[in-house]
Amino acid sequence: MGPNLRSMFEQTVAKYPEKEGLVDSRLGIRWTYHQWDLEVNQLANALREAGVEKGDKVSTVLFNTAEFATTLFACMKIGAIFNPINFRLSSKEIEFIINDAEPKVVMFEKATSEQMKPLIKDPAVMQFWSIDEHDLANVLNYYEQMDQVSNRRPDCNLDEDDIYALMYTSGTTGMPKGVIHTHRDMMDQALIMAACLRLTNEDRGLSVAPMFHCAELHCAFFPRVLIGSTTVVLHHFEAAKVIETVREEHVTTFFAAPTMWNMMIQENFNKEDFQTLRQGLYGGAPMAPALTTRLHDVLGIQLIQAYGMTEMGPAITTLSEEDQVTKAGSAGRSLLNHEVRVVRTREGWPSEPEDICKPGELGEIIVRGPSMMPGYYNRPGDSHEALFKGWYHSGDIGTYDEDGFLWVRDRLKDMIISGGENIYSREVEDLLFEHPGVLDAAVVGEPDETWGETVTAYIVKKDESLDEKILDEFCASSDSLARYKRPRRYEFVEELPRNASGKLQKFKLRERSASVLE
Ligand code: ATP
Repeated sequence: MGPNLRSMFEQTVAKYPEKEGLVDSRLGIRWTYHQWDLEVNQLANALREAGVEKGDKVSTVLFNTAEFATTLFACMKIGAIFNPINFRLSSKEIEFIINDAEPKVVMFEKATSEQMKPLIKDPAVMQFWSIDEHDLANVLNYYEQMDQVSNRRPDCNLDEDDIYALMYTSGTTGMPKGVIHTHRDMMDQALIMAACLRLTNEDRGLSVAPMFHCAELHCAFFPRVLIGSTTVVLHHFEAAKVIETVREEHVTTFFAAPTMWNMMIQENFNKEDFQTLRQGLYGGAPMAPALTTRLHDVLGIQLIQAYGMTEMGPAITTLSEEDQVTKAGSAGRSLLNHEVRVVRTREGWPSEPEDICKPGELGEIIVRGPSMMPGYYNRPGDSHEALFKGWYHSGDIGTYDEDGFLWVRDRLKDMIISGGENIYSREVEDLLFEHPGVLDAAVVGEPDETWGETVTAYIVKKDESLDEKILDEFCASSDSLARYKRPRRYEFVEELPRNASGKLQKFKLRERSASVLE
């Protein structure tokens, strides 16, 4: 039996039994690590009594709640595989995942009833547990399950190579794929991130980004539990509520997606609101340098960026507080024990070293390290392609600079080719964000008979008077954007399609562009 996440949790419980471990104010919960552990044991025993055995899956469709954090460790206590599902997915999308993962139990909350109702099956096939009062046929109530169950520690032999979770990718570029992570992978990620964030057991972290996504779960939540810090969970994101919670709960660290930081900055908060905060994390999607500069200069927030992907656990590089200003826009340097390369072609690497790009030259970002997935669930073909020659091929285009900092330019699938020239959508978006009248921006390629593709910008206005002419003049006056990269068409929208983790769903914009052009 090697290091595993269950023993990580239990060691913290043993070291800090009376320390506040988990706070969920909505449910009136303030558990010490000892109390939290008893809840975890009880749920683990209830799952076992319901027939869940080592290697079985348990899916959750939960917001950030104490139940989420409890179910996660309850699964580990009995060696079950945890499968957190995005609560914003449609019924059909959730169905796709549960058909693929085949869990024994699916836990969900009332807020997701509409999506869950059509999926509920005969309990002999798959059990559905509700964490709220519920009157849906064939749904068991979580608390009734717990009634007579013991909270004694269940026995289970866990190996470091045992699967801890099945995490489905966002599906921003195709159908979601189940990424397998083992206990060892995630111990490594948690240790490295705890060191990187310089966490101590005095820290108080806020889980406000969705916990079903690995950025929050593995880069912020696990490292805190490993170190014995406190976690305050916030059911869902609401900018004003985050600011209030940071103040009231004396939060010192939290992760938020770039779009969440963007919304918080609109709330007119000031430095005093964030007095207790010693660091803010962001990642999962690019953040325009104009925004990082404002957070840093105006509000004094020390930012750390993480770049990565579900397949890698997710973090592979970080940009530290110290480099936020001088290297604004870069994804930073590789994490301890992670190797990141930028290569010209998939085929040449690694047998032809000349395939590695020179500083400043763009290529595909490939990576390997201790938190790399062993593969996708049920998808040997996709696993083979993604883990080509032992390196994970990210599908992102980037470059290294002379100082060893990585710059992520775009996803290969989002790159626009116009008149034979490559245009990286992020470059155009970063410039548009510099305009004070722009609240949000996304750039996609639109089919064009002459040029192959042309650039279209989707804009959410901050300033009502903003129009196409103003933005075109702004882009034309910038010396950082060549003429052929300038958007040919602007569309003003109320909001941009983003998933629950704040990632832009550009395929939806491309579909929209295609329907406009038909
Ligand atoms: P799918 O594989 O189903 O399309 P997905 O790629 O959105 O889903 P994730 O693992 O959630 O799944 O996202 C990883 C991608 O997010 C990276 O490959 C990269 O394009 C983007 N990304 C993550 N962090 C950053 C960052 N700090 N800066 C820029 N892009 C980022």
